[in-house]
Amino acid sequence: MQELIKVENLSCSHEAVEALSNISFTVTSGDYLGIVGPNGSGKSTLVRAILGLMPVNHGSIVLFGQPVATFNSWEQLGYLPQNMGPLNPAFPATVSEVVQMGMLAGKRLPRRLCRHDRQQVQIMLELLGIDHLQCRLIGELSGGQQQRVMLARALVNNPELLIMDEPTAALDPEIRDRFYELIAEMNKTRGTTILLVTHDSGTIGKYAYRMLYLDKKVLFWGTFEDFCKSPEMTAFFGEHSQHLICHRH
Ligand code: ADP
Ligand code: MG
Repeated sequence: MQELIKVENLSCSHEAVEALSNISFTVTSGDYLGIVGPNGSGKSTLVRAILGLMPVNHGSIVLFGQPVATFNSWEQLGYLPQNMGPLNPAFPATVSEVVQMGMLAGKRLPRRLCRHDRQQVQIMLELLGIDHLQCRLIGELSGGQQQRVMLARALVNNPELLIMDEPTAALDPEIRDRFYELIAEMNKTRGTTILLVTHDSGTIGKYAYRMLYLDKKVLFWGTFEDFCKSPEMTAFFGEHSQHLICHRH
């Protein structure tokens, strides 16, 4: 199994305040990891550090076998940042252009879309229920619609590793379920490796194999089966919450 992400003894601070302390875990190819924790527990900080967007105090981050500082195969990776806030309504790109940009980002020069690429864009727009919006400017759409466009953009390349920070926050429940099914399907049939951040600890256990429970430090890292059997986790969460999280029985 190839290690796609290897984090060792990672610590990060915002100004002088430590946000992450001594974090270690790995993500191997084909895995589906849920990163869970309360608001402010450092989930987004961790994702940003993994992507090289955040200075590191201690420790190391290796992506696809390369230290993040020299990693240069970003086309293998899809990233959906946490809600970007409202876009300028006049931002000059249509929905289909934004998704096409995601496709182009994964190409080597010269960057052109072929017929097959355009079909893939169309399929992704349909899967996420935004094909009827494809000629609209992205800034004119609602938050949930914009989030689906950004998701389509991250997914369209068929990346080997997909990193998503609170992807379901602005989605309504029906679309949310469809989104989780779609990601599980990509993981099973295409072998896409998934790292999904959520504060919704009650849902992710239905889909992910492994969990990292974060609260500035790692409270748990392992499979949901191990989580379910762990006496430390029973002591920490109580038996009822432990089994609401684990979804194993
Ligand atoms: P989560 O994603 O789990 O909600 P974050 O990683 O966003 O948590 O934040 C972790 C901690 O770092 C919080 O206490 C937050 O207030 C702080 N923090 C996040 N971003 C910044 C920033 N840009 N400047 C200062 N503090 C920050
Ligand atoms: Mg966050």
